[in-house]
Amino acid sequence: MRAPAAGPRLLLRRLREIMAEPIGAQERLDMIVVEIAGNMVAEVCSAYVLRADGVLELFATQGLKPEAVHSATLRIGQGLVGVIAQEARTLNLPDAQHHPAFAYLPETGEEIYNGFLGVPILRAGRTLGVLVVQNRAHRTYTDEEVEALQTIAMVLAEMVATGELEGLSRTGASLDLTRPITVNGSALCDGVGIGEVILHEPRVVVTNLIAEDAAEEARRLDEAIASLRLSVDDMLSRGDIGAEGEHREVLEAYRMFAYDRGWVRRMQEAIANGLTAEAAVEKVQSDTRARLQRQTDPYLWERLHDFDDLANRLLRVLMGHADGPPALALPKDAIIVARTMGAAELLDYDRGRIRGLVLEEGGATSHVTIVARALGIATVGRADSVVSLVENGDRIIVDGDAGEVHVRPSTDVETAYQGKIQFMAERQQRYRLLRDKPSETTDGQTVTLQVNAGLLVDLPHVEESGAAGIGLFRTELQFMIASTMPRIREQTALYSAVLDAVGAKPVTFRTLDIGGDKVLPYLRSVPEENPALGWRAVRLGMDRPALLRSQFRALLHAAAGRELRVMLPMVTEVGEMKVARELIGRELAHFERHGHRPPKALKLGAMVEVPSLLWQLDELMAISDFVSVGSNDLLQFFNAADRGNTRVADRFDPLSAPFLRALRQIVRTGAAAGTPVTLCGELAGQPLSALALLGIGYRSLSMSAASIGPVKAMLLALDVSRLAPMLDALIDAPASSTDIRAALRAFAETEGIPL
Ligand code: PEP
Ligand code: MG
Repeated sequence: MRAPAAGPRLLLRRLREIMAEPIGAQERLDMIVVEIAGNMVAEVCSAYVLRADGVLELFATQGLKPEAVHSATLRIGQGLVGVIAQEARTLNLPDAQHHPAFAYLPETGEEIYNGFLGVPILRAGRTLGVLVVQNRAHRTYTDEEVEALQTIAMVLAEMVATGELEGLSRTGASLDLTRPITVNGSALCDGVGIGEVILHEPRVVVTNLIAEDAAEEARRLDEAIASLRLSVDDMLSRGDIGAEGEHREVLEAYRMFAYDRGWVRRMQEAIANGLTAEAAVEKVQSDTRARLQRQTDPYLWERLHDFDDLANRLLRVLMGHADGPPALALPKDAIIVARTMGAAELLDYDRGRIRGLVLEEGGATSHVTIVARALGIATVGRADSVVSLVENGDRIIVDGDAGEVHVRPSTDVETAYQGKIQFMAERQQRYRLLRDKPSETTDGQTVTLQVNAGLLVDLPHVEESGAAGIGLFRTELQFMIASTMPRIREQTALYSAVLDAVGAKPVTFRTLDIGGDKVLPYLRSVPEENPALGWRAVRLGMDRPALLRSQFRALLHAAAGRELRVMLPMVTEVGEMKVARELIGRELAHFERHGHRPPKALKLGAMVEVPSLLWQLDELMAISDFVSVGSNDLLQFFNAADRGNTRVADRFDPLSAPFLRALRQIVRTGAAAGTPVTLCGELAGQPLSALALLGIGYRSLSMSAASIGPVKAMLLALDVSRLAPMLDALIDAPASSTDIRAALRAFAETEGIPL
């Protein structure tokens, strides 16, 4: 046998020559299998390519019957080749004929071969085909030979990925890489977007696979790893974890991988076999992906993400753009695809060009979703593995209503969606016609519909939707998108612009709600075990009164002669309202002493989002000028289910008796005390849950602007006097005895209420 290291290197060099020859794809593939068989002293070498219809087709062979090419096929999971493709793993068998998965294909004449080595042809962890060598002898291939065949498979993966083999199949079928794929996720923001994939973290594309000089490549890899380790250590020791947007545990995982000797060894082996340093990183990353993807343990999945990140960092170091690959120009119809993303990162994109957003993670009330909703971007979350299924520039459809993503859709699907977009535009047009109708139920109950906002881009929506005002202005968004703490002057400018934009309509400003999942890049935050239960929102304001006072000052300046409505997030005890009232009172006195024009009226409210308030509602109503229920947080604390954790966020139905009892208690206590109550969480914006809220007594709701039309259409057809007694009875019945959601749907159906 040949010396193992020289064999593959020599072979790769030959492959490079073959790749450069001005010949057709079939001829090139034929030459490649001949070369591999010769080099590996195998009697057979065959390449199977996965077609879009899920069938593996023999594309080239040396040793099997030539007439089997493009006619022998196996399904995924069928035969040894099918098993390799299905499981993305190598099979090395001395006696293939007796393996339980062996499938005999008479047209190939392979019954005389016993030794069998097959490897998946992988790209970014995805299987594109299978490469096999066979011998008559009962032999087990050495580790070096396995490694060599895997390395060569990378070159074939590149051939498949460039589309060179497209059209070779005798059936005319296209290859798997271009296969249309539908991914089912969860519907986060309504609407449909059609456009081109833009990967939020673009994959680094390695095109130079075969090395000129192995020693030089090994040196480059060592250098890059040293630099990577330094930067990870540095990030950990600087402690500016928030600034990098990464959590300590992620960095710890990076460090673990960065120092993992197995990882480095596997890359060194790939270089010894003739790959460039970049290709070696990619090969090992792809193998690891394929291996970990078979796991179902969520912990291992997380590690896969960490590992991917680290490998990408290493690739960037090697390719000389450590700050990330050069930014792609956004096409005019971009669909952003990301594993996960912060709200501020979404705002960095040019809004005018984004048609949709697809996330592997992300729940209905996570921050990026709220921002996407404010921007009116069709969004689907929990789209499993979508990042590895797409390439930059792929056509893609995001259906934010159904929670579906169509990657590389067929023309039929695309045409159907064009129709849907047209239909939705017509529906929007109908909503626009409702804009000036009084917001009243059929039995004469007036319902105040306001919008949630937080950015200048939201402001035109107030007028367009016909909303009665802004029921929740999230002031932290300005802080989240700034790279330094906004000065009082900048805060005043934004608040004045908001008040100017809405004219006489009311605006309820919420003081900074930071901490938890809302991190400010410039504010050092102490790592917390449970940030959602931690030092956040008004707690921070109580401990750092300067921050709260400067915000009060900016609000007072902006209001000058107009009504000023301010509310506090995450109030837990009534005492916090007292402190806040004192603080704002002092600011007001100071303000007047300096001759500034005070607001026409000052209203201070509390958000009800911590369950402890449910047992101090009387006191709360007495001390508050108004209250607003933050149902997103209230629900997460009520059920002890993290709103940002996709595994539990939707586990408990908000339209269930216990939660509705709590919501009803709040609105009833407010009514008895004469304190206005609004609800401004995401529940307000869905017609079905808004129906429930009206049924239990809410008459004021605040929601994203896009929800105003659907909710108004619902309430214009509703007779609350018929709903309320029925709903009350359901809520008072033993919990879990009825499906309230289903009952509401049935009610809407019989009453002809559009949902
Ligand atoms: C809420 O918690 O319901 C709410 C409106 O506030 P946010 O979503 O910003 O936490
Ligand atoms: Mg909240």
